Amino acid sequence: MRILILLAIGLLLYIIIGNLLRKSKMPSNTASDNSQHMVRCEHCGLHIIETEALEDNSQYFCSREHIEAHRQSR
Ligand SMILES: [Zn+2]
Repeated sequence: MRILILLAIGLLLYIIIGNLLRKSKMPSNTASDNSQHMVRCEHCGLHIIETEALEDNSQYFCSREHIEAHRQSR
């Protein structure tokens, strides 16, 4: 019978501690990686992450073909 009481107390503590941990974990779930800077392709207007964009004459392009196409259109 004593084992049942200990189990009941243990279960109760488990539930209380679980609730406390869940409460403290709740906030800070709004973190999204929006820190990356977006640039626009000068040829087609597509938005690309700056680190993935190709730069030519301080203008950004989504692909090498668009650098060529933009050069030829001038
Ligand atoms: Zn483009």
